Amino acid sequence: MQDYDLFVIGAGSGGVRCARIAAQNGARVGIAERRHWGGTCVNLGCVPKKLMVYAAETGRMIEDAPAFGWDVQRPSSFDWYSFIAAKDREIERLNGIYISMLEKAGIDLYTGDAKLLDANTLEIGPSVLAPEASVQRIRAKTIVLATGSTPVRLDIPGSELAITSDEVFHLPERPQKVAIIGSGYIGVEFAGILAGMGSQVDLFYRQPLPLRGFDEEVRTHLKELIDLHGITQHPGISPVRLEDIGGGKAVRLVTDDGASYEVDAVIMATGRRAAVDSLGLEAAGVAMEKGHVVAGVDGKTNVPSIYAIGDIRDQYNLTPTAIAEGHMLAEQLFNPQGRMWSFETLPKAVFFSSPVGVVGLSEEEAAKDHDLAIYTSRFTPMRQTLPKRAGKILMKLVVDRHSDVVLGAHMVGPDAPEIIQMLAIAVTAKLTKKQLDQTVALHPSTAEEFVTMRTPTRLVDRH
Ligand code: NDP
Repeated sequence: MQDYDLFVIGAGSGGVRCARIAAQNGARVGIAERRHWGGTCVNLGCVPKKLMVYAAETGRMIEDAPAFGWDVQRPSSFDWYSFIAAKDREIERLNGIYISMLEKAGIDLYTGDAKLLDANTLEIGPSVLAPEASVQRIRAKTIVLATGSTPVRLDIPGSELAITSDEVFHLPERPQKVAIIGSGYIGVEFAGILAGMGSQVDLFYRQPLPLRGFDEEVRTHLKELIDLHGITQHPGISPVRLEDIGGGKAVRLVTDDGASYEVDAVIMATGRRAAVDSLGLEAAGVAMEKGHVVAGVDGKTNVPSIYAIGDIRDQYNLTPTAIAEGHMLAEQLFNPQGRMWSFETLPKAVFFSSPVGVVGLSEEEAAKDHDLAIYTSRFTPMRQTLPKRAGKILMKLVVDRHSDVVLGAHMVGPDAPEIIQMLAIAVTAKLTKKQLDQTVALHPSTAEEFVTMRTPTRLVDRH
């Protein structure tokens, strides 16, 4: 039996940060991982997804190259197999980095499935990554649950025929015809990726516009861009059932308007749920609600020795917020520094091509409490002029008309995540539109538009 000051279950973004900061502050720390060192972000999320976005964008750049004088042929095919192999090598390299980073911090690593036996005891047994592992029992003063989340399939007949984002990264070949259900982050991102690689994509969602919860103008603009990529959108449509029509190689999707579609793959991008199965939460008395652990941003659960961070508590569900939660928790436990993150003005990105980047409030959210001045700008990026590539940039500032504070900044266009990350500092610092205007533009850039929007597009009174 090993004894620890802190034991983390789940070596994803949040768990790893929590373990490292605790160890740096003198705590004796252990961490268990059952499947992937680095968790969802590194293995089945942000990192491989972004590599795929780069792959899709590279094809578009080659298409545009002749317009800039390069003697290249339009790419005729995409070698999925070699790309996936290259992507996997990179992920393996990152897995190694995560492991050595934890080891160098003096943390004990356990590969296996961890489950709570009581508020201070856990057991680690075999898992997919360590099928032969012997069962070990561990006691810890503090236990941190950081097991993340897992994709959800809709409860419809034949849903087992669909794949989720977990499987898409390891398909043996790229589906030529693919139906994607859901237009949240994952649905929109994979629609862009697969269309960019040459697949015929049908995107089904039950709302009139994609990306529910984002600014309405951003959603409308994105819908137009999705059309420009040749993706067929089916707004207001939900799937009813899936049928196997090709011995596991082809699927018929039947939708609630009576139509049916024959495709090579159906991807369900219909949300995620907290990964709590077989964690032994009942044994330890940890309170749950709607399938996730009840805990605040400080990680406190109803059991004093058990904390929960990241997707398992189902609040922000983003990698950087899980990291912030893990970091704050470790400091709070072992060396309070008073460091805080602002969770009010979360920057978010959806890596479509062109991507969406947003920070702070949408116009609709802000108009509940503020009289607003809305500044918008739409223009064709210079890079697209010679290749005559269609698709405009949207940039938008949501400003409180009385205090002049910038409440939100939104962008759809190339480099939006990079630009919005920097503008997020201004929005988090509650800077005013006047302060943005005082900033000299950097020319020629896209970002300069955020400091040169002089006249409001419209004024909106609070609803
Ligand atoms: P989202 O919650 O973003 O989107 C889910 C989609 O599925 C929505 O379009 C939703 O429709 C639809 N849906 C849900 N239930 C049903 C139903 N019963 N019938 C029809 N449609 C349904 O989830 P994702 O799977 O896209 O992503 C999961 C999470 O992963 C995100 O919330 C995000 O936190 C994280 N993520 C972040 C990324 C990033 O930061 N770039 C990238 C990828 C994932 P409706 O809107 O009507 O509810």
